[in-house]
Amino acid sequence: MIHADAWLGLNDQHLTEVGNGHQLHPDVAAAFLAMQSHAANEGQDIQIVSSYRGFHRQLSIWNRKWTGELPLLDENDQPLDTHSLTDEQKVYAILTWSALPGGSRHHWGTDLDVFDKATVDACGGKLDLVDAEYREGGPCFALANWMDAHLAEHGFVRPFLQNNGGVATELWHLSYAPTAARFEALRNPEQLRKCIEQAEMHGKLTVLALFDELYPRYVLNEGLTA
Ligand SMILES: [Zn+2]
Repeated sequence: MIHADAWLGLNDQHLTEVGNGHQLHPDVAAAFLAMQSHAANEGQDIQIVSSYRGFHRQLSIWNRKWTGELPLLDENDQPLDTHSLTDEQKVYAILTWSALPGGSRHHWGTDLDVFDKATVDACGGKLDLVDAEYREGGPCFALANWMDAHLAEHGFVRPFLQNNGGVATELWHLSYAPTAARFEALRNPEQLRKCIEQAEMHGKLTVLALFDELYPRYVLNEGLTA
């Protein structure tokens, strides 16, 4: 049973624990564990960096990026000077890498960020979740190749495989398609707008003024082709 407000990250009753504090939808957990053991048999140590995040976690990330407490990067992973940006520029900069509170696929328990733990540990254990780590020469490149070949047979897709002018490329972000489709069907711009109106969120008035553009571009990730 998926609650009507679960897509906004306001309901976590449909989730199950998968270890290390991570939570996923039970169907997604089962599919991930099956894929993880398949990968392990082929020498890939696929582990979760981030899984379910509720609305308030996402709101906290948003607010800390807004104030400069967390760093802001451009789409090429170059740091931006938060304080020199206008409010509009800040909204676009945050949305390149972080979703609106209520608009994250991580709210669903169907999506997760993954890495190759054994290889990252062998390289000193530091992971920044940047593109270069999943490209040739990076510790997660072999895993990225393995996922190219095997994600689909386990029901997973990568919704941020390409930057279309919306969310940046995130090779580490997986989505379990059969269950995610049920959340995609629940998405509704008016419900999200109301949720943001009621949140204690920095930049809220700017977000609401731009909302009709931001929703298809970043929440639906249709990018600039929309
Ligand atoms: Zn992610």
